[in-house]
Amino acid sequence: MKSRDTKSQQIRSALFWFRRDLRVTDNAALHHALKSASSVHCAFVFDREILDALPSKQDRRVEFIWECVAELKKSLQGLGGDLIVLHAFADCAVPDLARDLNVDCVFANEDYEPLAIARDARVQERLAKNGIGFHRSKDTVVFEKNEVLTQAGGTYSVFTPYKNAWLKKIDDDCLKAYPVHECADNFAGDGDGDGDIGEPPTLAALGFERTNLKTLGIKTGESGAHALLEDFVTRIDDYKDARDYPAVKGVSYLSVHNRFGTVSIRALASLAYAETLRKKNVGAETWLNELIWRDFYFQILYHHPHVAVAAFRREFDAIPWPNDKSLFAAWCDARTGYPIIDAAMRQLNQTGYLHNRLRMIAASFLTKDLLIDWRWGEKYFADQLIDFDLAANNGGWQWAASTGCDAQPYFRIFNPVTQSERFDSRGKFIRKYLPELANVPDKFIHAPWLMPPLEQQACGVVIGRDYPPPVVDHSVQREQALALYKTVKG
Ligand code: FAD
Repeated sequence: MKSRDTKSQQIRSALFWFRRDLRVTDNAALHHALKSASSVHCAFVFDREILDALPSKQDRRVEFIWECVAELKKSLQGLGGDLIVLHAFADCAVPDLARDLNVDCVFANEDYEPLAIARDARVQERLAKNGIGFHRSKDTVVFEKNEVLTQAGGTYSVFTPYKNAWLKKIDDDCLKAYPVHECADNFAGDGDGDGDIGEPPTLAALGFERTNLKTLGIKTGESGAHALLEDFVTRIDDYKDARDYPAVKGVSYLSVHNRFGTVSIRALASLAYAETLRKKNVGAETWLNELIWRDFYFQILYHHPHVAVAAFRREFDAIPWPNDKSLFAAWCDARTGYPIIDAAMRQLNQTGYLHNRLRMIAASFLTKDLLIDWRWGEKYFADQLIDFDLAANNGGWQWAASTGCDAQPYFRIFNPVTQSERFDSRGKFIRKYLPELANVPDKFIHAPWLMPPLEQQACGVVIGRDYPPPVVDHSVQREQALALYKTVKG
């Protein structure tokens, strides 16, 4: 196993650049910076390359990050440091800041998305022109790049052997926390380089408005991640049994924190691994499995960057998707007439979160019932999800659409009604997000169009008046989907 990077060559001063790692605790590159330099400045850039392209000025993610940055600044000040917060194009702003601060090296944690890799290459080149180094560390994942390879040195594209190899590599060393607080003396205090660094820009100054983040009770920052984890630890034993039911509080809800690095993935994996070993806890083991899926999709994206725009298995790019725009609009707007799909899409639209089981059902429905290109759905999720992560979102969509590595076989097609009966049997989740169906009897809650007219009158839900009829017939669409996939499968 490659040993942990604990580079501690002494340099005078450094700049630490926060990206998708908005925490002080157990932050790999921040620790390396503090071990290497006697004066470490910290910065975060609200990158205009990303922000200017966002379709809505009410974006929960921007507000989430903004709140996290405010907490981060306070935490750094508490340790004798500070946080320079810029609103600029990061690929130019970071090299300029490093030059103005006269630092020897910029430290950051790796980002494996194709656009981030290209951005970092530009940053590295600009820094090099001024003789400034750029040092990156692994932090976002437990194992990165080429750390988990097949015996022949190839990359894995099937999950189970990847998982087995991952589990063979895991040990206490690679899960050990980086003790940032022990080297806090090396933070550059406020005014050590650039004079008064001032307050971060307001949300309005960034061009964004408040969303319903606070009303939803979404907890931000390291403190928010900590609170969620504390709660989840009391429920982890039940995870295997509870995780598939959207009306049950069975999952951790930590995905947004994993996305923005307000919690350390080493800390999560370490907890799950220890619980698995100690108690033979199947809940913790199942949860660890999900964290391994996360690493798996990161390495797929890293080694096969074409997946960001095309099918992992290229032959599926030839599927002649009918792409009916009115069906796509019905799916986005929660008007398909299938309660489980519409409730899912309301959850997504109203909260930016969607339960994993529902992500799978909604994605399958879009591709295999509505016969719409998975990339349309992937893009819609990317715009709505507060935890949007290119690697996991792409992996999930390609899994559901059967175009990915280790995907659901194309002939396995979820029936939205039976999925609904199985995972929301009394319609508790459906009724929460579709209050217009509150009085529909349990017997019809999964397929209300089957209610006889008298029953519709009795419960006050007339199909076509109070709730739409189904936009498609599942059994018909199923056959069409099979025919569509067969055009490329031969
Ligand atoms: P938990 O069940 O508590 O799992 C713990 C953590 O493991 C999660 O926080 C997440 O970081 C990771 N994880 C769990 N399942 C997966 C998975 N299948 N793949 C990769 N990582 C996983 N996850 C995202 O983080 N961002 C996305 O944009 C995203 N898009 C998805 C799209 C589709 C179509 C599908 C089917 C899945 C997608 N997922 C995505 C994976 C999964 O649905 C979410 O991670 C999970 O629902 C988040 O809830 P949680 O934090 O309570 O998860």
